[in-house]
Amino acid sequence: MAEPAATGRCTLCGAGYTRLHERRRCVCRAVPASCYKNGMRIEVHAPVAILSYHQTDLPPPRGTPGRCLVVPPLRFERQMRALHALGWRGLSLRDLAPYLRGERAGKVVGLTLDDGFLSNFLHALPVLQRLGFTATAFVVSAHVGGTNCWDAPLGAALRPLMDLPHLRAWARAGMEVGAHTCHHGDLTAIAPSRARAEIVQCRRDLELALDQEVRSFSYPYGRHRAEHVAWTRTAGYEWAVTTFSQRACAGADPLRLPRITVWSSTPLPLLLGQVATGLEDRQRAIARAVRCALMPQWHVPAG
Ligand SMILES: [Zn+2]
Repeated sequence: MAEPAATGRCTLCGAGYTRLHERRRCVCRAVPASCYKNGMRIEVHAPVAILSYHQTDLPPPRGTPGRCLVVPPLRFERQMRALHALGWRGLSLRDLAPYLRGERAGKVVGLTLDDGFLSNFLHALPVLQRLGFTATAFVVSAHVGGTNCWDAPLGAALRPLMDLPHLRAWARAGMEVGAHTCHHGDLTAIAPSRARAEIVQCRRDLELALDQEVRSFSYPYGRHRAEHVAWTRTAGYEWAVTTFSQRACAGADPLRLPRITVWSSTPLPLLLGQVATGLEDRQRAIARAVRCALMPQWHVPAG
């Protein structure tokens, strides 16, 4: 039987697939990562979930701001083990690149950890290594070895961040170090010239300190505008992540990638549903449609 025709792209969402699919609908939402049609294996690309963690640590007392982002180490391990047992592979953004470009298909999930907390080195790294997973830690370059002092005005608990030897060991273990600006400022709330410097200088500082290329970026608080996306591009980043909550389609804008935040309270079945099914995508699409219908003036573009 003849091979399906050349490389194609979804006519609706633009997601690429390695072989042309007969269906004229968005295959990334319609079918699993691979299927058989007329006896031929057809490669299609299911959306990829990129998970966003912050701390893997014992939570601070109830009522402490930011507590919802602290996932206990045992819970994190249970989540990773469950994904592994179900055949999923956790990958850093760097390792996820071929899947996001639509060049490969498979049961993969992106793993990112914002802010560079030491707890992730102590608790998450051993779990990732045992399972053969990789992950990206997004580091605030001016606070390497310090604390998350930018959270102090909110009353959040201050916790130690990885220092340079930790970051070097993180990278040696096959993990990725990404950039998260120099000072963790909200890019949409500071002067444009400063925002640009935060994006550009963070990459330079980390590359100089680690002697390796830094290609991934995370917008602090997920907040960004079109000019920030443009500056990440000119600064040389290949990937940038937001907090817009849905899975990433192959062929999605690499500098505005959505992520699904894992909260301290996220139950394991929900997490697995968010990774493996369109649960999060549908929820967000419905919420957006309702918001647009009821309050069109509140509608803002994704991210
Ligand atoms: Zn952050």
